[in-house]
Amino acid sequence: MQITAAVIRAPGGPFNLEHLEIEQPLPGEVLVKVAATGVCHTDMVMRDRLLPVPQPVVLGHEGAGTVLAVGAGVTKVKPGDAVVMSFNSCGHCPSCSDAAPAYCHEFFPRNFFGARGDGSSGLSRDGEMIHANIFGQSSFATHALCHQRNVVKVPADVPLALLGPLGCGVLTGAGTVLNALKVRAGSSVAVMGVGTVGLSAIMAAKVAGAARIIAIDPVASRLDLASELGATHVIDPRGGGNLAEKVMGLTGGVGVDYAIDTSARSEVIRQGLMMLAPRGECAVVGAVTFGQDIPVDGGHLLSGGRRLRGVVEGDADPEQFVPQLVALYRDGKLPFDRFVRFFPFSAINEAVAESEAGRVIKPILLMPGTEVPTP
Ligand SMILES: [Zn+2]
Ligand SMILES: [Zn+2]
Repeated sequence: MQITAAVIRAPGGPFNLEHLEIEQPLPGEVLVKVAATGVCHTDMVMRDRLLPVPQPVVLGHEGAGTVLAVGAGVTKVKPGDAVVMSFNSCGHCPSCSDAAPAYCHEFFPRNFFGARGDGSSGLSRDGEMIHANIFGQSSFATHALCHQRNVVKVPADVPLALLGPLGCGVLTGAGTVLNALKVRAGSSVAVMGVGTVGLSAIMAAKVAGAARIIAIDPVASRLDLASELGATHVIDPRGGGNLAEKVMGLTGGVGVDYAIDTSARSEVIRQGLMMLAPRGECAVVGAVTFGQDIPVDGGHLLSGGRRLRGVVEGDADPEQFVPQLVALYRDGKLPFDRFVRFFPFSAINEAVAESEAGRVIKPILLMPGTEVPTP
């Protein structure tokens, strides 16, 4: 079958819309007609080859759409079902067996290697293999091959075109609060960087009943939005001064119970640890790279029994967590539509540029035939 996909052919881009051939689903695979797909920061990291993703490749990992066909053995979904695609996992390693697929022992091959286990991708152009299977989906395309493992059925009464970010960005922020840190009612949370992940963390902290929610970001408009979505205090980190001391000042010198870093900057993460109250926990969520050292004040870590940990994809099992996120959205408790902007798929390069310039928090690309959802 012929599809249209955005292909990256060289590090740094651009995205070229090309006509490709897509295979029918193999056993365990699901062919999805994509309705819309979010654009996530990790797509840019892969575009720039800061992760060793082979090119030419079709990126995209926040897809939502309708099942068109299923391969042999697929029982979870059937043609016509509305689905969100999330990250992929193996289903049988120790982490997957313990309902922790974000820590799948095969996380890298199944999400970043650009091919199936047998080396094929399912996508080609005049016989040239185009890498795919990114996060088990490659959703910057009118159609995507995904897997029974990473597809989640969603109800028909919520706008499908909006739901793609529930597969990665929103899931990461909300999951860090609700699954990984298990933020307690009455506690205090600081969120460093309020893009999609940070704002989702703030909304979830409010859901969890946190008493003090501190948003930290240099962009004033994002701090305003953070306040509307649940932040009780905001800090602009510019203008000198120590970030941890500013947070200490807001908490009567006690510090916060939880800090969440989305910046991936070592010095900011250090501040996240320094702003913790005794027994506090700092979650590293941003895309810290291999070989990147994080300076830690060992005495501060030890003395209060403080913790520093990494969190991938919000500790989520998408099968369980995506439906919870849909329910929260439906109840008005996760209004992530407030920071979404829709673009036609043909404007993918403009959407990416607007996002990288900081003018759009979460771009969503609408495939031909998909209407902008009405609020
Ligand atoms: Zn696994
Ligand atoms: Zn992502």
